Amino acid sequence: MNFNRCIDDFAPYKTLKTEGKICLNKNESPFDIPQYIKERVLEKIRIIPFNRYPDIDSTKLREKVSEKMSISEDMIITASGSDALISDIMNLFEGEYIVTFTPTFSMYSFYARRIGLKVVEIPLDENFDIPDFEIDIIKKAHSVFIPNPNNPTGNCLNQNRINEIIKTGVPVILDEAYWEFTGNTCLDYVNEYDNVIILRTFSKAMGLSGLRIGMGFACKNIMDKWMKIKSPYNLNVVSEYTAIEILDNEDIVNRNIAFIKREKNRIYEEFYDISYQSAANFILMKADAFDFLFENGILVQRFERRLSDCIRMTVGNEKENDCFIRRMKEFLKKKMS
Ligand code: PMP
Repeated sequence: MNFNRCIDDFAPYKTLKTEGKICLNKNESPFDIPQYIKERVLEKIRIIPFNRYPDIDSTKLREKVSEKMSISEDMIITASGSDALISDIMNLFEGEYIVTFTPTFSMYSFYARRIGLKVVEIPLDENFDIPDFEIDIIKKAHSVFIPNPNNPTGNCLNQNRINEIIKTGVPVILDEAYWEFTGNTCLDYVNEYDNVIILRTFSKAMGLSGLRIGMGFACKNIMDKWMKIKSPYNLNVVSEYTAIEILDNEDIVNRNIAFIKREKNRIYEEFYDISYQSAANFILMKADAFDFLFENGILVQRFERRLSDCIRMTVGNEKENDCFIRRMKEFLKKKMS
């Protein structure tokens, strides 16, 4: 039996046990969707035969997204989370390596390396922005992945630099997982450029991480190819119906976003001297506080290499944030003494 050789230098994507902890480590929304919306979804689900496959291309959801975002249905793809779309993209283009700007979202390199693609990492500059770099490296790439705002640093990246990269004509994936927290989007680019893919997710501002729903947008030429290789039935019925309900209840999502932004500012002001400014629903802090917080019931994200002395905390509900602030102050006081 011959296993794929790439697996040997792979570390599985791991998460820590969360029972009994305040979970501020995965950039989820602190809010579940309201019970009455769940009831409405359940009403629909009650009459759906579970012995049948879902619609092969999630037509109803794509129609709703098309209506809400004024973008043609044949430029939209959905899947079980944007992770699944990132995985698909690795099979869409030719080339030996993808380009990322580090520190960045780890799943780009995970899915690339899984199919034997190399990863060229260009370090972000001291402000975590795209540095001056040799653009020729981009020209030969399979694709370039840019989350905006960036995860885990939280900042938006220089738009002129992004535009320069797009102008090379190489496939550029703008991952807008956190766009709702800034309002900045390049969604229009898919009408203008034939090499841009926009990714969005229902896992963050929309509060549906557990249902795994992601969306991709691109010109018709990319989408025709993408639809050929996507897994059939790649979104289950429960997720599809719930996503449609949420899109019909934007006021709830907007209220949650406003709350998260307010709370983020409150936390930032408490720790401005160790915090990086964030346009997302989390804050990166220069503090080696993972173990202390963990021992005190709070789970945040920790990193290696350049960010090994940092934590990333997701904005939680008011009580969770109060607890985080209290424990973090204790940590800093202890460090000073
Ligand atoms: N892109 C970025 C930048 C993310 O931070 C995340 C989740 N952490 C994802 C994509 C994945 O989202 P999904 O839940 O839709 O797979």
